[in-house]
Amino acid sequence: MYLKNIEVHGFKSFAQKINFEFHNGITGIVGPNGSGKSNVGDAVRWVLGEQSAKQLRGGNMQDVIFSGTETRKPLSFASVAITLDNSDHKLPVDFNEVTVTRRLYRSGESEYLINGSACRLKDINEMFYDTGIGKEGYSIIGQGQIDKILSGKPEERRELFDEAAGIVKFKRRKATTIKKLQDEQGNLVRVTDILSELT
Ligand code: ATP
Repeated sequence: MYLKNIEVHGFKSFAQKINFEFHNGITGIVGPNGSGKSNVGDAVRWVLGEQSAKQLRGGNMQDVIFSGTETRKPLSFASVAITLDNSDHKLPVDFNEVTVTRRLYRSGESEYLINGSACRLKDINEMFYDTGIGKEGYSIIGQGQIDKILSGKPEERRELFDEAAGIVKFKRRKATTIKKLQDEQGNLVRVTDILSELT
């Protein structure tokens, strides 16, 4: 699996629709300061479901929408789509190519799509569990992140190893099941209370 393409439109400094094509190997993005190199990484983080504006170097989520320049009007939406080659089927879907899209409008409306079909953020998160690619994954290492990992708490570092070992999806499922069990136990207590009131 590898990243084949990033299409950005209206995202941060990319007012026009732009396609970045990648090949199976090393690609470097170079350019002068402030030309938008880090915005490419932000675009990938964002499409993978980043919910923190701070992580994207903004104050609120609407800051990712192109805000205009002296010569260009602001846009009303931001859209990013990444296409991954999935011919090795590392992503648990039947497609040989997977395109994940996220759009956000100034009105606050937003949408996620997998191969053109609307989906929930949860579907995207689940598709990327244990691949290292999700927004919590280790495939995007931002500036200063290595220091953060090295000086972080052991539990935080453990999360990276869990992802690499492929056990995150089982941990998430376990947590969901424990929550359901707790809810059911709560229901059982209520039923017992009602029964004791009736008898
Ligand atoms: P450096 O080499 O200094 O790290 P860089 O090439 O990584 O820089 P970025 O940080 O990716 O550059 O891009 C910063 C540019 O993006 C700034 O010029 C900033 O004005 C522009 N920018 C960020 N958000 C928006 C937005 N919503 N609308 C328009 N331009 C934006």
